Amino acid sequence: MLPAFISHPDCARHEMGPDHPECPERLGAIQDMLLLRGLLDYMNTYDAPLATEAQLGRAHAINYVHELMEASPKEGYHKVDPDTDMNPFTVRAALRAAGAAVQATDLVISGQVPTAFCSVRPPGHHAERSAAMGFCFFNNVAVGIRHALDVHGLERVALIDFDVHHGNGSEDIFRGDERVLMCSIFEQGLYPYNGEKAVGPNMMNVGLPARSGSDKFREAVATQWVPALDAFAPQLIYISAGFDAHREDDMGNLGLVDADYAWVTRQLMAVAQRHCQGRIISCLEGGYVLNPLARSVAEHVKVLIGAD
Ligand SMILES: [Zn+2]
Repeated sequence: MLPAFISHPDCARHEMGPDHPECPERLGAIQDMLLLRGLLDYMNTYDAPLATEAQLGRAHAINYVHELMEASPKEGYHKVDPDTDMNPFTVRAALRAAGAAVQATDLVISGQVPTAFCSVRPPGHHAERSAAMGFCFFNNVAVGIRHALDVHGLERVALIDFDVHHGNGSEDIFRGDERVLMCSIFEQGLYPYNGEKAVGPNMMNVGLPARSGSDKFREAVATQWVPALDAFAPQLIYISAGFDAHREDDMGNLGLVDADYAWVTRQLMAVAQRHCQGRIISCLEGGYVLNPLARSVAEHVKVLIGAD
């Protein structure tokens, strides 16, 4: 029973201009590094399916889903916010990215795979119920979680977000949904400029100041996330896996290193072993400098697949 690596060539056809940091090359860099380190030998590779309207509608307003599809340009770009553009392939890429989270959910819950990594773009955690923003269109991880809850009937699912930016979209979708515990660590003062105030008891947000470094990050995981997760006892854990808190990534200044991604994944694997037979689904979010991104993903995946 090998862990799943889920991606699709369509995810590399969405692009937002020549100098945009959220670029198609991110996926190639990740795949190359996983190959180079021999990690893909220990995974089954799957082509992500397209998410259906019904699946998207569990996390997004259906009007929003329709409006986004209708906004798809025939050529050139359609701007949805100052940093976020659609090209003619964006909708298909976004449907694959959300579809990957749904497929991962089916594979893990049915026991066909123990864990899954979705190497997809566009990312999702800034996408709100009715708004695309911050390079995100559909909230991939949220679509997967609602599929686990509403279709498979799970009752408690945890969402971990270690991207350097706060996952405002996931927070918007899951506020008031007590079936979900969201744990987020992010850098204070960065886009999307919120997250400091918890919006409900199912949100464990930890904003850290710039240059907090590995020790403060690990302390927050150990003293805040882990006890909250143990008390919640999730039946499945999802990770919004952003790697832009790395010290070589200029999007943020938290100052993490490769080893921090292995370490945090080990803590989450231990929680998953205690409560949910080790079941974890991880979806790529940010991480923009190709080499540290690829290395950090490899550290994360190495632990996720038990090759640590
Ligand atoms: Zn980010």
